[in-house]
Amino acid sequence: MPADPNEHWKDKYLDSIDRLEREEARWNRMDTTLRRAIGRLSIACRGLDNRLDAELAEFAKVIRQKADIEILENRIDSLSEAIVALDEAPAAPTFTPTPELIASTQVSSSDHGAGLLLHLLGQIAPDSATAPDLKTLADRIVPGMSLDNLRPLADTLAELINRQQQSVNQERLSLEGLLAQVDTRLDEFATYLLQDRAARDDERSSRSTLTTQLHAEVDTLGSHTRQATELDQLKTQVSTRLTAINTHVQDYRSREEERVARLEERGDAMRSRIDELERETSHLRQSLQVEQQLAATDPLTRIPNRLAYQQELQLEFNRWQRFRKPVTLAVWDIDLFKSINDSYGHKAGDKVLFAVAQLLRKHLRTTDFVARIGGEEFVTLLPGADALQGQKLCEELRRKLGQLGFHFGGKPVKITASVGLSEFRVEDTPDSVFERADRALYVAKKGGRDRSVVE
Ligand code: GH3
Ligand code: MG
Ligand code: MG
Repeated sequence: MPADPNEHWKDKYLDSIDRLEREEARWNRMDTTLRRAIGRLSIACRGLDNRLDAELAEFAKVIRQKADIEILENRIDSLSEAIVALDEAPAAPTFTPTPELIASTQVSSSDHGAGLLLHLLGQIAPDSATAPDLKTLADRIVPGMSLDNLRPLADTLAELINRQQQSVNQERLSLEGLLAQVDTRLDEFATYLLQDRAARDDERSSRSTLTTQLHAEVDTLGSHTRQATELDQLKTQVSTRLTAINTHVQDYRSREEERVARLEERGDAMRSRIDELERETSHLRQSLQVEQQLAATDPLTRIPNRLAYQQELQLEFNRWQRFRKPVTLAVWDIDLFKSINDSYGHKAGDKVLFAVAQLLRKHLRTTDFVARIGGEEFVTLLPGADALQGQKLCEELRRKLGQLGFHFGGKPVKITASVGLSEFRVEDTPDSVFERADRALYVAKKGGRDRSVVE
């Protein structure tokens, strides 16, 4: 027991205040961790939609500014609206039939089956993954085909439609899952902030009760001291009041200890929830990457598809606008490929496509890009090469293609390709470069095939 009883309760009181301040600091750390976690979650959800991105950016801003709960609630409301608006999906891309396709749908009665199938094809709005396959299918339908020959093509069409529907369903489900997770996380965060506000209110009222009680005790002590006539009486009154003060401080401490224990428990629960969420987020990010990779790959040749090519062309074009180092685009088309299918079967044709794709991929530099953009058409993007350097490279590749040494039906079969090349120019758009290279390819075909032409 200290010599001065006043020192005793003062110490205790100061001790409690000290503990409280430490708790407050600990809570602030937890608050920062939570805000960081929510910030990361909103980054993970970006890129789905422009409006949602804008809302997420605003949300991240108010979190960084440590804004009040009312402001956060308002932000959560508009975020929810942006999420609901995602339901209004953008219009699907359409499959534009070529003039030849339209012409071939103007059929006589003997062409009825082929015409009907082509008409059906024209009605389908393909996604980027099925568009090349639909085009290939359209190429294979010839007016006047017999019903027996048409049947497998109709089966392929049905299969393509099913595949497209499945992929749409999968995308929808994965998006719905993602949104449900974001929603739950935002709810958790809002609940946490509300609980925190209540805990702070508890603490404030507990402190003010203690202050009132202490003031009342000190007042009583003062008036008794003034009224006391004997030293013993005064001693007793002082001792009684000090005991009362001590009891109030003890009460306050145990209330605080309980409150702090509750806070710690909640903090632990939130921390383990954050760990869990971080694990989920990284898992989700990984599976999204795998899906994106699949969506950009051509299943037959296992090289990038048309979708990946369009993205790469845009990227390369943007880079070219900044750095102006030459970039050349080359369009490849295998010569008389239809006759390989016709003479040796579709499977043999598929083997040729696979081998050509692998050859292009293997012999290009790591900075080059190759994709299969349609039936027997490929595109290579050659950054750092002007048109003539690009042509030299393509000629070397065409020489290697000639050496592949295919054998079908026991006979050697020589495969050749024609190439059209063009270099990015100042007045270009990504489309105009492609159109020029495609025109060069046409000139190469007209000139007798098995050659490259620069335009
Ligand atoms: P050209 O030299 O003028 O390019 O003649 P071509 O025969 O190569 O051109 P055409 O466009 O007439 O024929 C292309 C053929 O490619 C028609 C189509 O059946 C075939 N084809 C398209 N996609 C595939 C595929 O995935 N596998 C196979 N085996 N054949 C395909
Ligand atoms: Mg072609
Ligand atoms: Mg061809």
